[in-house]
Amino acid sequence: MQNKIGNKSFIDKTLNDNNLYAKKKFGQNFLKDQNILSKIIEAANLDKDTLAIEIGPGLGSLTERLCESAGFVLAYEIDIDLIPILNENLKEHNNFKIVNKDILEVDINKDLLEYEGKYKNIVLVANLPYYITTPIILGLLENTKKIKKYVMMVQLEVADRICGKPKTKDYNALSIAIGYRANAYKNFNVPRTVFIPEPNVDSAVISLDLYEKPQYIAKNEDLFFKLIRESFNQRRKTLINNLSKAYSKELINNMLNEFNIKQNVRSEELDIKTFVDFSNYISENGDKK
Ligand code: SAM
Repeated sequence: MQNKIGNKSFIDKTLNDNNLYAKKKFGQNFLKDQNILSKIIEAANLDKDTLAIEIGPGLGSLTERLCESAGFVLAYEIDIDLIPILNENLKEHNNFKIVNKDILEVDINKDLLEYEGKYKNIVLVANLPYYITTPIILGLLENTKKIKKYVMMVQLEVADRICGKPKTKDYNALSIAIGYRANAYKNFNVPRTVFIPEPNVDSAVISLDLYEKPQYIAKNEDLFFKLIRESFNQRRKTLINNLSKAYSKELINNMLNEFNIKQNVRSEELDIKTFVDFSNYISENGDKK
């Protein structure tokens, strides 16, 4: 089938006809490349038993492709001006719902109740608004266990950080927070030239495959997430220096000894399991300074 939405002339015409422009404050950069859209759809591996959740459908270029491949599409768009346009652009489809809400305000588990039992899988597919990439991903990972896979376009630098492995420059608190719950990997890079307007960064599509059973269990997850943020507070400092603001030196020294880790270790040298061990150790033995 010929797709109509994700190309330059359609996007230009739609914006023109509706007297609209891409809004910077909502991170609006519209995809104009059908080839990239096909590659996103391929990465998402959808079928008619799958409910696709989309964040920020924009003018509907990805939504159109999701309607073709998934059983149903639930899309959240913050910009009220785009709602009538989306409904018009997608009128040939009957398997979607556009919700005019800020994704950061959505109670996703509540919204998903009405689809319970109707679909075997729930997959999130989105070209994310870059100004809130991290809160969107961390918020959803924390708030729901119902979404089994995430396929997302994000800023290239953020993609590298999310997929970063220990002992590399990209590895940080975000790699660990996400790696705790999911296997994160990059699907492909995307040049800035495939968007209208062209952003001043390149992008990449990444996937998160959620672990059915966690690989390691942090007994106190709040403490675990706080610990990783504190550990990477200042990258050039040792772990001890970063943590000594929050915990006593004695506790940190004992913890490093317990796990046979050198005193001058830096956070980027430690894998996720070690941070989980640390947080479990602190929740059992330690307390705040
Ligand atoms: N999916 C479209 C595409 O690929 O052409 C548009 C992607 S554009 C990068 C990001 C979209 O997210 C915009 O449509 C924007 O209005 C929407 N958006 C921004 N902030 C949002 C929020 N907090 N909640 C829901 N949608 C949001």
